[in-house]
Amino acid sequence: MNRKEQIEILKCRPQVSVLIIGGGINGVGLLRELALQGVDALLVEKSDFCSGTSSASTRVIHGGLRYLENGEFRLVKESLQERNRLLKNAAHYTRPLPTTIPIFTWSRGLLPALGKFLGFKVSPHDKGAVLVKIGLSLYDQCAGRQNPLPRHSFSSRRAALGLRPQLREDVVCTATYYDACISYPERLGLEIVLDAERQCSDVHAMNYVSAKGAQEDTVLLEDEASGESIEIKPRVVINASGAWIDFTNRALQRKTQYIGGTKGSHIVLDHPELLLATQNQMLYFDNTDGRICIFYPVNGKVIAGSTDIPVSDPETANCEEDEVDYILESIRRVFPAIRLNRSHIIYRFCGVRPLPRSNSSTPGEISRDHICAFLPAGNGIKFPIYSLIGGKWTTFRAFGEQVTDRILNDLGRRRLASSADLPIGGGRNFPQGAADKREWLTSFAEKYGLSIQRMEILLDRYGTRARDVADFIGNAPDEPLRSLPAYSRREILFMAEREKIVHLNDLILRRTMMALLGQLSFELLVELAGVLAPALQWPEERAQEEVQRAVRLMEKVHGVKLASRQ
Ligand SMILES: Cc1cc2nc3c(=O)[nH]c(=O)nc-3n(C[C@H](O)[C@H](O)[C@H](O)COP(=O)(O)OP(=O)(O)OC[C@H]3O[C@@H](n4cnc5c(N)ncnc54)[C@H](O)[C@@H]3O)c2cc1C
Repeated sequence: MNRKEQIEILKCRPQVSVLIIGGGINGVGLLRELALQGVDALLVEKSDFCSGTSSASTRVIHGGLRYLENGEFRLVKESLQERNRLLKNAAHYTRPLPTTIPIFTWSRGLLPALGKFLGFKVSPHDKGAVLVKIGLSLYDQCAGRQNPLPRHSFSSRRAALGLRPQLREDVVCTATYYDACISYPERLGLEIVLDAERQCSDVHAMNYVSAKGAQEDTVLLEDEASGESIEIKPRVVINASGAWIDFTNRALQRKTQYIGGTKGSHIVLDHPELLLATQNQMLYFDNTDGRICIFYPVNGKVIAGSTDIPVSDPETANCEEDEVDYILESIRRVFPAIRLNRSHIIYRFCGVRPLPRSNSSTPGEISRDHICAFLPAGNGIKFPIYSLIGGKWTTFRAFGEQVTDRILNDLGRRRLASSADLPIGGGRNFPQGAADKREWLTSFAEKYGLSIQRMEILLDRYGTRARDVADFIGNAPDEPLRSLPAYSRREILFMAEREKIVHLNDLILRRTMMALLGQLSFELLVELAGVLAPALQWPEERAQEEVQRAVRLMEKVHGVKLASRQ
């Protein structure tokens, strides 16, 4: 069904049990949970799926080592359990991530840490080896006996400097523990949407549709693409609009002050020496102000971040120059021998953490737990609203499950199924181990007439959905893109036809990693728009507009200048 047909159906059938506003990871995760229970639901997202905060994370699937300092053991345990589930259920996009902490003192930080744990206010402090040992032992403990990842280990100063000679000379040792990372978070979000729609025919998700207002039993939606209005009559509304939650509630005639967002920025660097220093691990260390800094490799580049700065309006949050200085300086402090400057930056991004409003002057101390706030019908509005506050990529499934139980209770329905062991998208039947993978590649490369190398690239990008892509590619003549031969025209066409692309930006930022990996050029944008145009019925002017829109966004938001060479 295309967008037009979907909108016509909504107009004819405005009644829906659950309306979810916001298509970030919390919204789409909940949609899939509801689909599994056979509950009819509609999700609307004002932009593209996972284009808000969910596109701006560090991409780490983690238990939250730092949360132990605040005594949040329940959150750490839940996060570790969900991390392990994601490693199984989204095996195509998640992988274990060894994480190394460089340590510069033996015993510093013990007393402040104890004070913090007991609830006293303490200033930022370096963590010595003893404290890190206690923290990592607790972390291993929280992961439990079934933990599939190795326990932590320590390396001597000599070994640490042997492996990373660029490290600060006064390092006393390093500690390494395991978490996980996710290669294509936005694609995983999209796969969750596609799975939900496939699971239940009464479940729909529409990007570029925003919630604009409410009256009595009706929510007023607007199609951002055509300006058309749509009226929906939900029994329950879920406000999953993240950092926009209070704005959305206000549009729905309810005044709330749930959110105290903090923005976080990252930069992506093309820097072979820094890449080498990662040794395929994440580096994790405290900055002088107590914030955590990290960097780790992603497809031959290095992601580094992040900042944590209170903001009031998520629409205006951008990665600013002083944040870039801050991130570069934090790396230089630990790796002084590595020369870094702005010329190494190929991309930058920023998002606003939808944290609960708090009086804490230290953003890092605000809980990263999730809360579901309830507003009963009232103020002339006839439906209740649940607001999904906080949460993380790591815990979206658990959060969605908990909220679904409350909704099922409201609707007087019973739970039918659990998502705990349910694979997502291309994680279904994902080959395990080298031999299994080799067999998978050989058999499907032969079946679809592609080389094993090409099939491997598709498996990496789409998980086992690579079969659908390969099948589609094989149905007509294909050729590599002139400006980026790692992709072919029919591969792009597959995404245009099957993956809810509305704008060129959806393709370059979220269906692929072209923007993040610095692969864009003006010529590539023109070529991609040319491939999308017939599939999305864009006239010539619209294709040109899409290119200009992408150029503007890349420069204004991501610090990338794409000039035409004409
Ligand atoms: C810098 C940073 C680093 C992070 N790192 C990690 C990490 O490594 N691991 C981890 O697990 N988590 C991490 N997180 C946390 C995680 O990314 C977020 O908590 C999560 O993405 C929030 O998802 P969400 O769905 O609530 O919000 P969003 O993803 O922001 O989704 C809300 C959506 O609502 C839409 N919307 C708003 N108003 C309307 C309206 N009126 N109508 C329709 N739609 C509307 C928005 O466009 C948006 O897409 C990080 C966050 C940040 C900022």
